[in-house]
Amino acid sequence: MGAHRDHRRAIPGVDRLLARPWCGLLVESHGRAWVTARLRAVLDRVRAGALSLPASPDGFAELLRDEIALAGTPSLRPAVNATGVILHTNLGRAPLAPEARDAMARAAGYGNVEFDLDAGRRGSRYVHCAGLVRELTGAEAALVVNNGAGAVALALAAFAAGKGVAVSHGELVEIGGGFRIPEVVEAAGARLVAVGTTNRTRLGDYARAIGDGGVAAILKVHRSNFAMTGFTEETGLAELAGLGAETGVPVIHDLGSGLLADAAGLGLPPEPTPAGSVAAGADLVAFSGDKLLGGPQAGILAGTRAGVGRARAHPLCRALRCDKVTLAGLEATLALYRDPARARARIPVLRMISAPVEELGGRARALLKGVAGGRAARGAAPLAAGVVPGESLVGGGTFPGVRLPAAVLRIEAGDEAEAWMAELRAHDPPVVARGRKGRILIDLRAVAPEEDAVVTSALISLGRTGEEAR
Ligand SMILES: *Cc1c(COP(=O)(O)O)cnc(C)c1O
Repeated sequence: MGAHRDHRRAIPGVDRLLARPWCGLLVESHGRAWVTARLRAVLDRVRAGALSLPASPDGFAELLRDEIALAGTPSLRPAVNATGVILHTNLGRAPLAPEARDAMARAAGYGNVEFDLDAGRRGSRYVHCAGLVRELTGAEAALVVNNGAGAVALALAAFAAGKGVAVSHGELVEIGGGFRIPEVVEAAGARLVAVGTTNRTRLGDYARAIGDGGVAAILKVHRSNFAMTGFTEETGLAELAGLGAETGVPVIHDLGSGLLADAAGLGLPPEPTPAGSVAAGADLVAFSGDKLLGGPQAGILAGTRAGVGRARAHPLCRALRCDKVTLAGLEATLALYRDPARARARIPVLRMISAPVEELGGRARALLKGVAGGRAARGAAPLAAGVVPGESLVGGGTFPGVRLPAAVLRIEAGDEAEAWMAELRAHDPPVVARGRKGRILIDLRAVAPEEDAVVTSALISLGRTGEEAR
């Protein structure tokens, strides 16, 4: 008890520490109030025994600098995606094209977001991107909202609030992140009318449900994140559109990933496209801006003038609207698709999907060489590492069966694997890799070539924490 009191007495007061010259410098660059708060936090931790008491008041300088660095680190930080999963939802899905980044930076100030520059009066936010989406999908009209889930919910609310929505049993899926079709239908204020069976749903099943009455919309969901094989049958969108036209029931297609490029040109199996859904006669097609399209987070509705008009007039539309920076990034990304070759060259997602394995292997080997040299120069043990065949994924709940052949950097880390992965994540900027049974796998497919240097420096420092502890 007495020792505890002595310990407390030895801790200098806030004012005394604030008067030290090093503290004055910190106050100058970070402001008195914040530095004082950080200093109090340090003192609290020393008092609680979580930090050891420095030998002299000046020993607090380092503790305070560490605290300021930690507390000042932004929550949202850039990271290097070395997982080999291109559309990694946890790492922000699509990295954007330089054109999109520039446009977003320019849009951060004032702009004609809802202002008609020709007429000099209030305009509509919803005109932006709409022309490009029409051009690229062949739709009569288009609307951009906050995300894909929002686009689906808005379409359902606009067509079927308080009424029934016919969906195949086989399409009552969960997309990820808790997006479950039955729940979205319910959240939109509509009633789910499940038709057919899990493995087979025919046109007659939909027709019967409509005949029974109360069905205000047909929803077709693209099973983007899993494949169904065996004794299966599903009704095509064109047939559904035919039935919809006959019975006056609009058809909504939840497409998920909005691939605007040619799948075969990217070396991918066939994937339904927004243009294909529009051509098949869907009233509204919903897809994401940040999946295969390769743009910022957004949800796009493309379809008939009447369908889009209904969605735009619904109150939910205002709640789901996206901001000017997103609109600018999406517009710049969409504009690249006017020239397919340019889209493939400039949109990172498309470039990463089609990156040849030889190129990835060459980069990995060059990187490894740099790491070996760097580690030798700092007197660190060489890494037990090599370049081996591997597999990358498109991710984002798309192309579940597709494994892209890769050449990955494999580090034999043994018992250190967890600690080294943590060190890579603690690097500035963080490097997120894949770990498996004592091995660390670095896949460069989703790493921009200009980020190879970051990975190199992270691997050169690897094991430093362990060395210091020893
Ligand atoms: C991803 C996906 C969604 C949700 O889109 P977000 O942009 O993630 O909100 C909806 N439907 C399908 C079929 C999807 O694949």
